[in-house]
Amino acid sequence: MITANRYFRELFGHKMYKASVSLGVTCPNRDGSKGTGGCIFCSEGGSGEFAAGCVSGKTVSEQIKRAVDQVSEKAGKEAGYIAYFQSFTNTYCDPVFLERVLEEASSAEGIEAVSVATRPDCLGPEILDVLEAQAKRMPLFVELGLQTSNDETARFINRCYETEEYISAVRALKDIGANVITHIIFGLPGETREMMMETVRTCVGAGSDGYKFTCLYVLKDTPLEKLFADNEVEILEMEEYFDIVEEAIGLLPETAVVHRFTGDGPKKLLIAPEWTKNKRQVVNYINRRFGL
Ligand code: SF4
Repeated sequence: MITANRYFRELFGHKMYKASVSLGVTCPNRDGSKGTGGCIFCSEGGSGEFAAGCVSGKTVSEQIKRAVDQVSEKAGKEAGYIAYFQSFTNTYCDPVFLERVLEEASSAEGIEAVSVATRPDCLGPEILDVLEAQAKRMPLFVELGLQTSNDETARFINRCYETEEYISAVRALKDIGANVITHIIFGLPGETREMMMETVRTCVGAGSDGYKFTCLYVLKDTPLEKLFADNEVEILEMEEYFDIVEEAIGLLPETAVVHRFTGDGPKKLLIAPEWTKNKRQVVNYINRRFGL
């Protein structure tokens, strides 16, 4: 396993920061084309609550400039930036529009790579052509929200696509030169530890290059909030969660990059788990436990 910091330093020769960009797109299981209401854990922000610089009504270049300005003093002159299309499903749009915004992002000052978060079922041939052209310009990361490889759990969380589509998408993305990062949630309702490890094995088998792990957390105004209030969902304790992460890392190839050891919901929306609220304590724990 390689940490994202080390990986980026080796690839770019310096530290990399994210400059988040909001495209104002939606998602097929919010707008009714696949489903409504979204995944049960997803808030109105569309999994992009932390998109610094995410300002609607601003152009891509303006958003990037604002995001870069916010961290440039801390980052220093040596740092590089990844234009990060984070919220909702960023390939759920017209390919011509996607091409235009990717070109705009690529030419923004300081941008050395692009990262696009999306769903495996939103990668049709025309979108893949656009992404292939982007991968030729600069490193391209595509983040896929799999969460689980278990299709029964996937139906329960209202993911609205089959795991088979994820496997095909990873293959297609690697064929066009993209680096694939898979999002996995540990602690989904009804999942045993073995089911979680099966998800990791599925991703490794599919050829995912990187991983973002998170514990399931409950946000206000989501369907999960009600399940949690009705005691139908158990939330993992910190030690328990990181035991699972450690076991998962043991299944990854040496070259796999772990981009995130856990996520933390926005404080104003977060209901549980409490332990993710103390970010400093969690970071210290991760550093100690994983020798980072
Ligand atoms: S696919 Fe992503 S953006 Fe859409 S509802 Fe699920 S988590 Fe939210």
